[in-house]
Order: sequence, then C-alpha cells, then structure tokens
Amino acid sequence: MTKIKCPICSKETEWCPENKYRPFCSERCKTIDLGGWASGKYHISSPITPEDMEDETTAMEIEEALLKQMKENPENYSG
Ligand SMILES: [Zn+2]
Repeated sequence: MTKIKCPICSKETEWCPENKYRPFCSERCKTIDLGGWASGKYHISSPITPEDMEDETTAMEIEEALLKQMKENPENYSG
C-alpha cells in the first residue's frame, strides 16, 4: 500500500487503482487542480493583443463609472 500526499491539500491518500482521484485525495482536489490547469491554458491560448488591452481598459472604465454612479446615487442601486 503506497501512501502519497495530495498535491492540493497535503492530506495523506492511497496510491492504488481503486483511488480514481490519485494523486489527489478526492474529487474536489482533482477538480481544483484541473481548474487551475484549465485557467492557465486559457491565458496561454489567449495572448494579449493591443485590441484585448483596449477591451480590458474599456471594461474597467465602465466598471469604474458604474461604481461611481452607485456611490453618487446609491438609492438607484439599492436592492
Ligand atoms: Zn486533497
């Protein structure tokens, strides 16, 4: 019986064919790891272009404007 440590939460788990989540201790930790890889992939597969930078700036400006509006007129955004 081989004991390994889950790379996500460091909990001891068994390395055996029955443990379908190996090297993770649970489905949860496996999902966390896969999620990390997926988001990493997403960033790599989407190189930042000047157009993307513009989009991001615009989105941030819109968000800032909205936040400013919410602060100035909180009654319009309550609830
Ligand atoms: Zn774990």
